[in-house]
Amino acid sequence: MAAYEPAGRKERKVSIECASRANGKLMNPAYKQTCFVTSVFERRQLPAEAVAEAAFAGRSNAGKSSAINALCEQKRLAQISKMPGRTRALNFFAVDAERTLVDLPGYGYAKAPTALRRQWKTLIEHYLGQRRNLRGLMLVMDIRHPLTDHDWQLLDWCQARGLPLHILLTKADKISRGAAASTLQKVERSLRERKVDASVQTFSTLKRQGVEQAHEVLDAWLGF
Ligand code: GDP
Repeated sequence: MAAYEPAGRKERKVSIECASRANGKLMNPAYKQTCFVTSVFERRQLPAEAVAEAAFAGRSNAGKSSAINALCEQKRLAQISKMPGRTRALNFFAVDAERTLVDLPGYGYAKAPTALRRQWKTLIEHYLGQRRNLRGLMLVMDIRHPLTDHDWQLLDWCQARGLPLHILLTKADKISRGAAASTLQKVERSLRERKVDASVQTFSTLKRQGVEQAHEVLDAWLGF
């Protein structure tokens, strides 16, 4: 299946036999090659809007880094975003020459001084509001604490802009399957009631549950 081979990148050619599998189906091997590109602290540092981008957001400790690592089948990729000095940055990761993942700073633990928080909020609002090559936002929420005020703020903001949204209800292994299914339904209902157009799924990095479903969304956004 040639479609799984990023064109013109010899070093990235991966045979079907070697391709990673998620829930028995092929995962696009390009994700395994994802690598850190840059940290952005100010508007003027933003890379050119040249490639398709998908962003990840979520409350601190929701499981965002673990989700990015699971989706890229790498152990420490997103840990870069947690390095001192990079936690308040937008961290850019290249999947290949035409596709980028952007890890937005975790929110919810507002320890930073007010001026810094304002600067950071302005940057994120600018990024989510203006970025022309941004194809969608994956919002990571701990399935045990979904839809916090911060999550709603972000969802409302993206909905107003018409940005495609997908929600990962992660750490699904921490509750029973029945409870996870019920939370999924509740979240879907709340989104409908608020007229927020977002798809939702359960996810677990521990069990590698939902990886394939999330890849389908990412693949569509990134044009694989
Ligand atoms: P972040 O701050 O949103 O990037 O969160 P992390 O990815 O660092 O995860 C926070 C904590 O939750 C870590 O201890 C992870 O090991 C744990 N965690 C993340 N995802 C899962 C999951 O799907 N299942 C379980 N059981 N733990 C998880």
